[in-house]
Amino acid sequence: MDKNSNEISAVSAAATATDSSDNVGNEENVWGKAPFLIISWLAFTILALFFGIMFYLAEPRLFQISATFTHIVAFFFAFALIILGGGLLLITLTSLTGLDLLYPHGKTQITMRILPPVVYLLGTSLFKLDKDKLRESFVAVSNALFWAQAVKNRFSTKSLLILLPHCIQWHKCPWKVTWSIENCRKCNKCPLGKLVDLHGQAGVSVYVATGGTIARRVVVEARPTIILAVACPRDMAEGMVDVYPIPVYGILLSRPNGPCFDTHLEIEKVWEFLKIFRPDVYENISNETI
Ligand code: SF4
Repeated sequence: MDKNSNEISAVSAAATATDSSDNVGNEENVWGKAPFLIISWLAFTILALFFGIMFYLAEPRLFQISATFTHIVAFFFAFALIILGGGLLLITLTSLTGLDLLYPHGKTQITMRILPPVVYLLGTSLFKLDKDKLRESFVAVSNALFWAQAVKNRFSTKSLLILLPHCIQWHKCPWKVTWSIENCRKCNKCPLGKLVDLHGQAGVSVYVATGGTIARRVVVEARPTIILAVACPRDMAEGMVDVYPIPVYGILLSRPNGPCFDTHLEIEKVWEFLKIFRPDVYENISNETI
């Protein structure tokens, strides 16, 4: 394991040791991995029971049609449960241990695309949980999977996109930075002043997006191999699913001034990410900036 992998391992170990540490950068009480994983297993249990009851009720009728057909239906139910349960088991073990047990390697599990809407539905309807907190928990799981795979150098970092939300720009700033962060005058009244010089460095692009639609367009045009995204729980959770299979590490914003207004980014997390994944770019950052 090289120096890079050792640094990633250290961060990954820290992330798996503390349930909510994946979301460092948020001063609010951010949910960790546990709620998303627990409700995911609850959803799987409900699905397994549903399949079992359906089959139990339908079995006599199916046998009247054909014994072979009955076996085919039973096989279908069992196969679906094995695929979903197996995927969920690998996601759970990987996110909790930091060991990359996912298969296929370097890809987001298809289960991770299916689970979020199911978990949100169950969590909000059965337990009256806040959807944004469930999204935070999903981001924590997704970040843990990211680190587990990063340890094994499964991602190419040659084309890095740093995607930022418009709400971190100082609300009185007169300069239009959406699409063109170069317009920033680096007055340092907001985090963009420290990030603008990263844009255009070898394989690094930095964009400010005003919403999910623009963010998706940026991803299509930048064609990154890896993304560092900064966003609120809603945009982050939706974006992570949307850009599949591009690996995304998410830093959640904190919102000391309320939603979508002068939001706060713990910029040290960006430097930490660059130090690990793009040390060539990190070395070019001036001491005053850091
Ligand atoms: S740092 Fe840039 S974007 Fe932020 S307020 Fe100053 S000029 Fe505007």
